[in-house]
Amino acid sequence: MIKMLKTDCIFCKIIQNELPSKKIYEDSTCLAFLDINPISEGHSIVIPKQHFKNIEDTPPDVLANLFLAVKMISTKLRFRLHLDGYNIMQNNFKAAGQVINHIHVHIIPRSYGDDKFKLKIPRTQISENKLNEVANLLRD
Ligand code: 5GP
Ligand code: ZN
Repeated sequence: MIKMLKTDCIFCKIIQNELPSKKIYEDSTCLAFLDINPISEGHSIVIPKQHFKNIEDTPPDVLANLFLAVKMISTKLRFRLHLDGYNIMQNNFKAAGQVINHIHVHIIPRSYGDDKFKLKIPRTQISENKLNEVANLLRD
């Protein structure tokens, strides 16, 4: 595999063991490790071993391998940590909360009981006209 890494990227440093991390999974294309500031116990980060900034920059085969790893690790987390569920989050660009500019997927364990992670999802009303306007902007 051609290694495309960035010297000033924290996650590239983790890949090269220049920074310590609690690795939980590794294969030829992906790496997973525990988040240093977890939202909940077991909060994991999955990354490709090549540096791409976000989902738009990442080639399809790399994305495919990344999400296959996410699926496998999610299942393992659910069984091993006895989770009731988990959220998969993938932030793109600063406006969406992306801090580390190396594409990554968060797996955030959820459990009934003392779950401190609350997703605030505002639901709004929208007119038929506005829905049509937006849909037309998106259709080719
Ligand atoms: P983002 O906001 O970019 O989607 O998420 C970046 C995540 O990386 C954050 O949840 C943050 O806690 C985690 N993180 C940042 N630096 C490090 C680090 O050096 N090691 C580990 N394990 N996680 C990190
Ligand atoms: Zn990187």
